[in-house]
This record gives sequence, C-alpha cells and structure tokens, in this order.
Amino acid sequence: MTSPVLVWLRRDLRLDDSHAIEAALATGVPLAFLYTLDPAMKARGVGHAQLGFILEGLADLHGRLADHGGGLIVRRGPAISSLLAVVRELGASAVYANRDEEPAAGEAEAQAERALAGVGARLHVFDDEVNVPHELVLTKEGRTCRTYSAYARSVRRVLAEAPSPPRSHSLAGRLIACAAPELPTVETLVGGAVRFRSDVPGGETHGLARLRAWRDDGDMARYADDRDLVAEPDATSRLSGYLRQGMLSPRRCLQVADAADARKWASELLWRDWFKYVLHHHPDLAVHCVDRRYDALEWTGSDEHFAAWTRGETGYGMVDAAMRQLLATGSIANRARMVAASFLVKDLHIDWRRGEQWFRTHLTDGDLASNAGSWQWVAGVGLDAAPYFRIFNPLLQERKFDPTGAYASRWAPDRPLAIVQHDVERERTLAAYKAVGGERPGEG
Ligand SMILES: Cc1cc2nc3c(=O)[nH]c(=O)nc-3n(C[C@H](O)[C@H](O)[C@H](O)COP(=O)(O)OP(=O)(O)OC[C@H]3O[C@@H](n4cnc5c(N)ncnc54)[C@H](O)[C@@H]3O)c2cc1C
Repeated sequence: MTSPVLVWLRRDLRLDDSHAIEAALATGVPLAFLYTLDPAMKARGVGHAQLGFILEGLADLHGRLADHGGGLIVRRGPAISSLLAVVRELGASAVYANRDEEPAAGEAEAQAERALAGVGARLHVFDDEVNVPHELVLTKEGRTCRTYSAYARSVRRVLAEAPSPPRSHSLAGRLIACAAPELPTVETLVGGAVRFRSDVPGGETHGLARLRAWRDDGDMARYADDRDLVAEPDATSRLSGYLRQGMLSPRRCLQVADAADARKWASELLWRDWFKYVLHHHPDLAVHCVDRRYDALEWTGSDEHFAAWTRGETGYGMVDAAMRQLLATGSIANRARMVAASFLVKDLHIDWRRGEQWFRTHLTDGDLASNAGSWQWVAGVGLDAAPYFRIFNPLLQERKFDPTGAYASRWAPDRPLAIVQHDVERERTLAAYKAVGGERPGEG
C-alpha cells in the first residue's frame, strides 16, 4: 500500500488556498489531515473565546473533508508526540505544514523535524501566512522596511512583478477516510465554566460566506467611510478571527478587495501582514519596546485601576463599552480598541504589556503579532509609532465616533464616576515620555 502524507494543521484551518495542501497534493499519494489540541496553547494566550472558535472550526473542517471522502484527525496532548503517534499509525512518509510564524511555534517545528527524522519521515514547511514572504519585502534600496507605508509599497511592487493569486485545490479521490473526531467542549478543555464566547461562528464555511456577504451586501464598498462607526456591527468585516486561525486565506481576502478596488480595506489587510513582518524582525515584540528607549518608562498605575479597566468601570463611555463588549463577545472594533488601549497606557499609566496580555487572551482574533504590534503603536513605543504626544482624548473620540451614544449605551448604560481626569493624566504622560525619550527630531 502507498504510504500517505500527513497535512499538519495549526493556523491554517481551511482547505482553500493552502501552500502545504498544494505541495502535499503534488506528491500524488493519499492525504490525511491532523490537528492537535496542545495544552501549550494556553501559555500562548489562546483564551476561551478563541478556543471555542477553533473547536467550531475543527468540526467544520471535518465536514468539509468528509464531503471529499476524508476526515480530520484530532488529537489532544503535546503537539510533537501526537504528531509522531499519528505518523506511526498511518505509516506516513512525510508531513506537510504551513509555517506558524510565532517564535514558540518555530521551536516546535524544529523539534518536530528532529522527531520525524527519527522515524524516517520528513517535515516540509511552507510560507503561507502573509501575501508576500518576508525576505522578499525590502525598500527600493534593499533594506528592511521600517514603516507600514514602505512595507505596503514593497508588497505591491513584488505582487505586480510576481502575482500570487489564491488557488483552489481538488481533493476528490485523494483523501484517507476517517471517522468524525470526538471533539471536547471548551469547558472540558479549560477544566471549568466558560465565561467568554465568540459572537461569530468559527469555521472556513462561515468565513467564506461572511467574506462573500461582506462584498455582495455593499459593506466593503462603504468601509472607507464607515469603518470607525463603532455602534455599527457591519462597518467592518469581522473577519479577523477567521484570518487569525487561517480559516480564510490572506490571498483570498486581498484578491476580493483588489477585484472590487476596495483600497482602504486592502490596506487594512496589509496591516496584518505588516505586523507579522515586524514580529519576524523583532521576535520579542510582546516583551520589549521596539524603540528600546521606552523600556525605561516607569509604570505608576495601580492594580485597582487595571481591574476597573478590565471590568469596563472607568467612567469613560467608549472605554467601558469596549471592555464590556470584549468580555461578552471576544471582539471590539479597531477604533474602540485604540481608545481603550490608549486609556490604559496614557490615562492610567499602566504597562502596555499588561493590556496586551488581557486583550490577547480575551479576543477571538487574539494574535501575538497584530496585538503586540498594535499595543506598541498605541503606546508610541514601537516602529511606525504614533508620536507619543498624540494622545487619544476618550471624550472627543466618543463624540466623534459614537455620536448618538448608541455604542456606549448598549454596552455600558450605567456611567460610573470617572476614575481619573483625562487632562491631568495627559500632562503626566507627556512628562514621563519626554523624560525617557526626549524630543524626537521634528517634534516638540
Ligand atoms: C490595541 C489593539 C489590539 C489589536 N489586537 C489585534 C489582535 O490581537 N488580532 C488582530 O487580528 N487584530 C488586532 N488589532 C487590529 C484590528 O483592531 C483588528 O484586526 C480589527 O479590529 C478586526 O476587525 P475586522 O475583522 O472587522 O477588521 P477590518 O477593519 O474589516 O479589516 C480587515 C482585516 O484586516 C486586518 N486588520 C485590520 N486592521 C488591522 C490593524 N490595525 N492591525 C492588524 N491587522 C488589521 C485584520 O485581519 C482584519 O480582519 C488590534 C488593534 C489594536 C488597536
């Protein structure tokens, strides 16, 4: 009997446009698919909402594979030993995987490669998570890009010379049949009650349907004008959870945006790729400020204020609405994320890293690169930093982007007393940043 090859899924829970699947199909031998529910996911910030979303995605993926005569193998336990066990059981000759670009996953890949070599199987890993592999993205002078705009220009230059359109795969007659996996519940996995659930259903089927509806219902066309209207759920695509788990391909989304000439939305898709590029060049993105001067900032905020922020009890409408929406749905629109994050750092003087961890474990789309990169952007301590003196005024933001008050009254109808005064805290922040970073050239 021909040895099959195994496709090892991690952040690519889909059958559409996958470089690993494409290469596995090219071998000409039968394919099996594996996902491992590794307890180490928790340490990597995968919280309840995200876990539920993944489990829904696994059930969906099994259904999609079963439609082609196959199925999804799901194992619980450490990823490498589970992978090795399945390779042995199937007698697989090789494993195909898309690269997971987070540093911890890179270490796991190296371990997997060694372990597989011990049983005579090879690991083949492919760049798949972004539109253009990082090493191809350079300034015209051949240097690493230091700003988002340089990055986006370079990506567009590469794509103009060597387009990388999404591909569909034909799986019929190529899959090894397997029974439906017995998927655990989130409660079983976390060993207790689950307080946080995603408000969008997980799975490639839902992701593709939402992408189509986003385009066909006209919301994508309105995005450039409407995206900051925080009370309007369809003002943005709400596709980030699907992109985070690879339930949608970044190339498929960019193709849809470009075909409709939805430039603003396309540029936001590239922000995701940009933060992956930043993480690639700064693997300690969640730990150190990219601009190292700001590692010396002193964080004088209190635990009481941090707790009030997490509960949405600061007395600032947009901040409180965002934080309560996060706990209820695992999601917040970008504008409200920026305002809530800025408030933590610049009004409560609390280390951006604490906020980053809270967001990452509660967001359905919680992602090391986008989250840490965005927190550094808001805090003004990273690459492409918003100048530190540009501090969001939470009251003006609310007036501008929630003009009818619908967002605040939906999520935070009671308005507790403000725990700090914005104008006072703003001055303290300016002084603290200036003391550490000095005036930047051209600013002041
Ligand atoms: C403090 C803070 C933390 C954030 N944490 C995350 C995170 O953990 N995971 C995450 O995916 N995004 C994060 N973002 C970026 C952004 O807020 C979300 O991607 C966006 O709100 C998701 O909603 P959407 O799918 O409706 O986006 P849309 O506006 O419809 O954009 C389409 C897609 O482009 C990407 N995108 C859009 N804006 C950004 C951005 N500024 N940075 C990176 N990618 C972007 C997302 O993949 C998104 O799904 C964060 C932003 C801030 C300010």
